[in-house]
Order: sequence, then structure tokens, then C-alpha cells
Amino acid sequence: MNIETVVVGELETNCYIAYDPGTKEAVIIDPGANAPKILGRIGSKGIKPGLVVLTHGHPDHFGVAEEIRKAIEGKVAIHENDAPILESKILTLRGFMFSATQVDQKLKDGDVIKFGKCSLKVFHTPGHSKGSICLYSDTESILFSGDTLFCDGVGRTDLPGGDSAELSRSVKRLLSLPHNVKVFPGHGPATIIEQERRGLGFKK
Ligand SMILES: [Zn+2]
Ligand SMILES: [Zn+2]
Repeated sequence: MNIETVVVGELETNCYIAYDPGTKEAVIIDPGANAPKILGRIGSKGIKPGLVVLTHGHPDHFGVAEEIRKAIEGKVAIHENDAPILESKILTLRGFMFSATQVDQKLKDGDVIKFGKCSLKVFHTPGHSKGSICLYSDTESILFSGDTLFCDGVGRTDLPGGDSAELSRSVKRLLSLPHNVKVFPGHGPATIIEQERRGLGFKK
């Protein structure tokens, strides 16, 4: 699996383009802003995305999902618990208006997203939001962790739908993955499970 990182928007969200290097089939994870920049990267690499996957329903992650969906003539997937946020007609956050995003696929824990020879398993990891997910490849030891787990920290729980007890359960689940799993968070640099396990004082 090859991964392209495009940092977008005011909150410097990591939009990831994960693709099969052979077939170039791809998924776009969290297109939060700046669709031209994301589409430019796709075009320059000859990548063929069919699906937009959202780690959760916050605007810094889905801001241009609808625009990208139309541009690639693809689909949008999000966990069923966060889908209602996207489907509401107009959402206003801190003065920004977002038009509704069509949800084509509602995800649940254990679902598998396939593109070319690659696949990502959906982990439902609530706490930062009710429908937060992480995407895991055991064969490639890769985890896309959204706003649940960061390099040196975990997601905030003070936004609507946040729950600190749920977050700590979700983080525990992630930290029990193999120590060498590379973690690609929704913001900031990549990390590995071992480093976060140590940083958070987690004993296996
Ligand atoms: Zn968030
Ligand atoms: Zn975020």
C-alpha cells in the first residue's frame, strides 16, 4: 500500500490517499479542505480513487468530501453513528457553512474496505465522536487513526458526541495492536504503536 499525505485547511488535517501501487486503485481518507490540492496530487500520480472514507463527522475531515465525491464520481463512506451529521441539510460550525454530503455507505466495526490488492479493516473507536473509526491493515502494519490517537496524545472529548470513558476504551484497543504498527493520525506527524504505548503508560 502506498500512502500520499496532503495537509489541508486551517487545522492542518492530514488527508491520506492510500493506493495499490500496481492497479492504482485508491481510497481518499478525510478530504477536509482544498479539493484542488488533493485532486492535483491524484492526477499527478495517476491514482484512481473510487471511495472517500471519513474517520469521523467533523468538518475539518469531511469539508470537501462532497466536492471530491463528484470529481472522482465515487462514493462516500462514514460510520453509521456519524452519518446523520453529514446528511443534515446545512451545518454551521464557527461561522462556516457546509452543504450536506451524500453518504453512500454506512460503516460498522469489522467492515473491510478493498481497493486493488489492498484492504483496510474498520475499527469503531468512539470517544472523540460517536462514529469515529480507525482503519487497519494487519498485513502492512498500518493504522489510520483519525482524531482518536495522535503522535504523543489522544483525541479531545469535549465536543458534541465526545465521551472520555469511550475514548479510553478505544485507545486501549488500538494500543493492544502489534508494537510496530505505523500510525497515521488525522493531524500531525506519524508515529508507531510502541511509542504511544510507552507515552501513555499503557501496559500490555
Ligand atoms: Zn475531530
Ligand atoms: Zn480533526
